[in-house]
Amino acid sequence: MTDCAAEIRRIIAARGPISIAEFMAVALTDPEAGYYVRRNPISGDFITAPEISQIFGELIGVFLVQAWEDRGRPGQILLIEMGPGRGTLMADVLRAARVRPGFLHAAGIHLVEVSPVLRAAQQQALGQHRVSWHSSIGEIAPDAPAFIVANEFFDALPVRQFVRSGGAWRERKIALDGNRFYFCLDAAPAPAQMIPHHLRDAPDGAVFEFSGPSHALARELAVRVVRTGGVALIIDYGHVQSGLADTFQAVRAHRFADPLAMPGDADLTCHVDFAALRAAALEGGAEVSGPVPQGRFLRALGIHARAEMLKRDAIAYAATIDSGVERLVSDAQMGSLFKVMGLSRTADAPLPGFAEC
Ligand code: SAH
Repeated sequence: MTDCAAEIRRIIAARGPISIAEFMAVALTDPEAGYYVRRNPISGDFITAPEISQIFGELIGVFLVQAWEDRGRPGQILLIEMGPGRGTLMADVLRAARVRPGFLHAAGIHLVEVSPVLRAAQQQALGQHRVSWHSSIGEIAPDAPAFIVANEFFDALPVRQFVRSGGAWRERKIALDGNRFYFCLDAAPAPAQMIPHHLRDAPDGAVFEFSGPSHALARELAVRVVRTGGVALIIDYGHVQSGLADTFQAVRAHRFADPLAMPGDADLTCHVDFAALRAAALEGGAEVSGPVPQGRFLRALGIHARAEMLKRDAIAYAATIDSGVERLVSDAQMGSLFKVMGLSRTADAPLPGFAEC
């Protein structure tokens, strides 16, 4: 088995400094040594919304069932999840959807997952359902309306960084000193079109981040939904406007770590630029709803009523249910840092959960 740091050192020795995106791609998804490929990081290194409370996945289920009904209950659909982690969200979606057997009957379940370790966990979580796995969404034939969910998927996609320095934009790269990785700036200025117009004259020190794979995927989801009907729901932490901040970070054992210190052994992410995703989805021809703050979205879907129902059935867990809900919706926790964006066809009914409330 190769080790990730050794693999990256080999690449830099052969080709010179690499972009942050290339570093992330190897560190996270190298087929032999990548962070996601070798382990199940969820709960050991970080925790995600579906793992905090079953209500999260149940409300996504309610959202999907409602969107399916609003689209005339198509008799065959592709229920697709991007990066399903432990499979908890999909299991909760399918449980909530039991109220509409027609939805479950119509749905072929497709999981897009690189990690064999996580595929095994998903298999276990979804035991009684027939599921197919794919390495990319492009492998799923667009032969039925798609109902797609991506929770904390885009933040793991590789990002390039550009830094304003000496009146020019230069790409931030990663170089090698002995065995140690360090950041450097490309000597050549970055092509002007890499930086959005309104940010081009930012002051020295400004950092612009761009994720090519996120742009391509948001566009691909849009094109698919426009072509076949359905909906794509993207949930992640990030900003509504393209900003000028360095958000490249590593998390290990619930703490921030040095992103260059342990490639393959720490989660590497960047905040999602929802303005960029929106632009990509519009390019793909979709109607875009949001982004809205996660707290608002979950409240609109009835999180508090659902919590009350659950507490009636599980009174001993009332405090845990309440603290899970609080964590998902409060502004101090996930409620406003996390955003929700929906893609659909312009002619279709508006998506549930996005209306002003
Ligand atoms: N959605 C889950 C897990 C989020 S972690 C949850 O909310 O709990 C990110 C997930 O995406 C993991 O399942 C990881 O293995 C997968 N993943 C990361 N990069 C990927 C890629 N490039 N292609 C496919 N899956 C990927």
